[in-house]
Amino acid sequence: MSDCIFCRIVRGEIPASTVYEDEEILAFNDINPLRPVHVLVIPKKHITSLSTAGVDDTLVLGRILAKANEIACSQGSADGFRVIINTGRVGQQEVPHLHAHIVGGTDPVGPMLKRI
Ligand code: 5GP
Ligand code: ZN
Repeated sequence: MSDCIFCRIVRGEIPASTVYEDEEILAFNDINPLRPVHVLVIPKKHITSLSTAGVDDTLVLGRILAKANEIACSQGSADGFRVIINTGRVGQQEVPHLHAHIVGGTDPVGPMLKRI
């Protein structure tokens, strides 16, 4: 989508600190990290959210999860991490391009205290 901020990052129109990329997905550091490791992993193809994803998206959704450990380890969170996919209004999703937050790097304290 032309005016989607994460599609613009995929196209290189907005700079991002890329930590992993392949033909299907892109991972980059969150601009406002809440933990020492805070990476966003997105499908390169525009999918608005899990609310709009379908079975056609199975492979790319699986790829995001399958690569999560490798990405977390490469960024210094080898002892575990959380994967958070905020979805829609109730999920308080702010950027309407599906993204998984990979957060870790320290034991959970402060705003990322485990809440579910
Ligand atoms: P959400 O609340 O939608 O799950 O999370 C959106 C995330 O995107 C936030 O953590 C925010 O800091 C991050 N973000 C928003 N705009 C940009 C940007 O232009 N670049 C990067 N790297 N992260 C962004
Ligand atoms: Zn997009």
